[in-house]
Amino acid sequence: MTVTAAPRRSKPAPASARVGAWAKQADCIGRPEAFDDLRRTGEALRKCATCSVLHDCREWALRNAVYGVAGGMTPSARAQWRRAHRVPEPVLTLADFLPLDIAVADQGRGLSAPT
Ligand code: SF4
Repeated sequence: MTVTAAPRRSKPAPASARVGAWAKQADCIGRPEAFDDLRRTGEALRKCATCSVLHDCREWALRNAVYGVAGGMTPSARAQWRRAHRVPEPVLTLADFLPLDIAVADQGRGLSAPT
């Protein structure tokens, strides 16, 4: 697997690092409960298995601090993959807890505090 994504949302990022248009087709938009509840991991993984954007989501999830199931992988499976491929663990920021639909709207530009 080639991973090309980079950190998102917490600060401006290069165009290649932004969440792609694929996120608009995510099967989990508006339904984060099963993906954030580790007691419902099996349910979330089954949903991912039939998601049309699984490949893109997995690349993104492996490079970003994402809680819960994403890209058809649990957090521990993603951490194991990173160790095996010498990919550093992403830094978790407050923005990483945003619902996916907000993340999609943000498109990786980063959220700024009101002035
Ligand atoms: S593969 Fe990604 S976008 Fe699709 S349902 Fe799973 S977490 Fe959501």
